[in-house]
Amino acid sequence: MSFVLHVDGERWRAAHDRFVADHPGIVPVIKGNGYGFGRDLLCAESARLGVPMVAIGTYVELPSALAAFGGDVLVMEPYRAAVHADLPDLANRRVVHTVTTQSDLSSLRGVLSDARVVVEGLTSMNRYGTPVNEVAALAGAADAVGVTLHLPLGTGHVEEISRFIAAVPGELTWYVSHVSAAELSTLAARFPEHEFRPRIGTDLWYADKGSYEVRAHVLDVRPVAKGSRVGYRQRTVAAGHIVVVSGGTSHGVAMESPSSAATARSRAIAVTEGVLEAAHRVRSPFTVSGVMPRFAEPPHMQCSLLVLPAGVAPPGVGDEVPVRMRLTTTTPDAVVVA
Ligand SMILES: *Cc1c(COP(=O)(O)O)cnc(C)c1O
Repeated sequence: MSFVLHVDGERWRAAHDRFVADHPGIVPVIKGNGYGFGRDLLCAESARLGVPMVAIGTYVELPSALAAFGGDVLVMEPYRAAVHADLPDLANRRVVHTVTTQSDLSSLRGVLSDARVVVEGLTSMNRYGTPVNEVAALAGAADAVGVTLHLPLGTGHVEEISRFIAAVPGELTWYVSHVSAAELSTLAARFPEHEFRPRIGTDLWYADKGSYEVRAHVLDVRPVAKGSRVGYRQRTVAAGHIVVVSGGTSHGVAMESPSSAATARSRAIAVTEGVLEAAHRVRSPFTVSGVMPRFAEPPHMQCSLLVLPAGVAPPGVGDEVPVRMRLTTTTPDAVVVA
């Protein structure tokens, strides 16, 4: 049984080439499940793209990133002496750390006296960072290679970023997240002496959504009469076919948060019943014979039972069916780049 992310390598890479050309200074973001592609593959792709730096989410991801990418690796979670002081890679000179406090900086410099750092400013995200009026002092004390700013989704960031720039004297590199290409060009025109480097994951890795597809195998197909009982919960189904496909909760099937559910109705169902419990009430993400059938019951760990309505031609065992899923919550069995 398999649940595989198929990538048309040539087309996928061409989209990245165009995206990088349109976003000078880009720092590709590689974190979590590697946006469905896996972090090692994205590290290799970043090396092919010729970028000097990638950004990762956490220190847990650091050893594999250093092994898979030969350039600089920016760790976006802040270095915390209380959490990270014992990690083996702190002294690696290819690492750029994020700091938000003087005491964390001192701890880091105790490990490597010239450790490279960026200072994160506390933006309206209100996640972590140094307040705007303290950024200059910390960046100066740290001889920081730059300041990072993580903005909420959406637009309207130029004024917030401008306030930080006004508060920090000198020419700096600004590593900014979730800032649009239009906002970047406004900033570049307004502050020509500064350098702006966008940290981008989603828009880069999914630049050509037609260049990859998750496909699952059909494992079994069986005609059922109206009222037949199926599955762990012995629910009754309508007449048609039961189609068993690979892909279950362990792959992230039906684990998407309600906000990504397609319609207000499916969101409401997901909220009242819990996402997984609601699965049989909403359409599955599998496309079988041109339709998106419902789940017969919530997905199992590695396969799902679908109900194909009467009148729709059933697929054959071994057929591959496309699956429409958000890749940031997908764990495929394999990623095949052809
Ligand atoms: C995840 C993350 C990014 C990348 O976000 P995308 O929406 O995938 O482009 C950028 N900056 C920070 C701080 C992040 O945590």
